[in-house]
Amino acid sequence: MEIKVLLCNCKGLCDSFKDSDMNKLPFEVESDLDVKYTVLSPQLCGQGGNAILEEAMKTAKPDSYLLVGACAPKAQEKLFKKIIRATGFNEKHFVPVDIRGTDNTGILDRLREAVEGILKQTEVSPNPAA
Ligand code: SF4
Repeated sequence: MEIKVLLCNCKGLCDSFKDSDMNKLPFEVESDLDVKYTVLSPQLCGQGGNAILEEAMKTAKPDSYLLVGACAPKAQEKLFKKIIRATGFNEKHFVPVDIRGTDNTGILDRLREAVEGILKQTEVSPNPAA
């Protein structure tokens, strides 16, 4: 099982991200959490961000999870529904996390909680296809 983390800072223009330091965050995530890698996109719902997501989904193993730190989970589900469908990625392995309105410590806490949730889920259901 592996977890890939994709982060977005909404073009660097959104007020909701003003307390985070996106230069340090990817390193902090990789240092603190047991993840395969962390990538920061300036706009995951834009052309480049979509391409990154698509690659991450297409190259995912059956037991890979994508942890996406960006806007509200409901918004992410809408924004990325098409890519999930087109790539055939297991939507249960797409884990959207709202990282707005806090600083790096707060973001790390939210991502850690999501990682713990994934680990619990895999303990309950070790079958990767589940
Ligand atoms: S994915 Fe969400 S946080 Fe990222 S640029 Fe789009 S709207 Fe902004």
